[in-house]
Order: sequence, then C-alpha cells, then structure tokens
Amino acid sequence: MARTMETPSENRCRECGKKLPPGRSDMKFCCPACKNRYHNLRGSRYRSCRLRVLNALERNHRILERTLGTGFRSMDLMEILSQGFMPEYCSQCRRNGRHLEYVCYDIRYHISAVRVWGIERIESVRRPSSASADP
Ligand SMILES: [Zn+2]
Repeated sequence: MARTMETPSENRCRECGKKLPPGRSDMKFCCPACKNRYHNLRGSRYRSCRLRVLNALERNHRILERTLGTGFRSMDLMEILSQGFMPEYCSQCRRNGRHLEYVCYDIRYHISAVRVWGIERIESVRRPSSASADP
C-alpha cells in the first residue's frame, strides 16, 4: 500500500482550518460563509497595505516639497528621517549613471549614506510639454 503524505493545508478550509468534506478536489472552503470571510479579510489587508504605502508616499512628498520650498536641494539623511521620511517608499527608482535616482511623484532625488541630495521637481511630469488640452 502506498503511503500518501498528507499536506494539512490541502484538504482543510483556508479560513477556519476545518477538514473539508470529500468532494471536488479544488474545494478551498468548507462553506460560503468561510469563503466570504476569507475574501473580505484579504481585501481589508490589501486596503490597509495600500493605505500605508500611499500615506508614506504622501508624507515623503510633503517633506521633499517643504525642502524645495526652503530653497534647499539636499538635506542631512538623519534630519530628513527624523521628519518621517521613509526612503523605502518611492514611486519610481532608476539607475542614472553611477547613482540610483528616486522619484516621488513629480520630485526626483538621490540618497547617499549621509544625505538626500539633488532634490528637484520634474517639470515634464507636472506639465506635459506638447500636449495641449485647449480647444
Ligand atoms: Zn471553514
């Protein structure tokens, strides 16, 4: 007799963990209520993750914009971190020569070990040059 290795997650409800009744092999939930609960929770986890990322991007943008407003184009890394800047969040990151260039919406910047520098607004992002919406 061949021994089959039982993988516990395969024949158990993904929501409550109860053993699934024998039936279709692609069954994932023991009942519609479990299926709904699972998808609702997953949706709310996604929404809170999305909100966390968007809030971090908004905060980063506010800080970069404030820095630009004071006429500076760089800031001490410790200083900007203390203001709540989260360097792990950006809307774009690309290699520009020797440096990694980060973008937060319409502001571009670089990060060294001690400074956030080269902070500048990307004009082409703010206002498309040739596309005119005028009638
Ligand atoms: Zn269940």
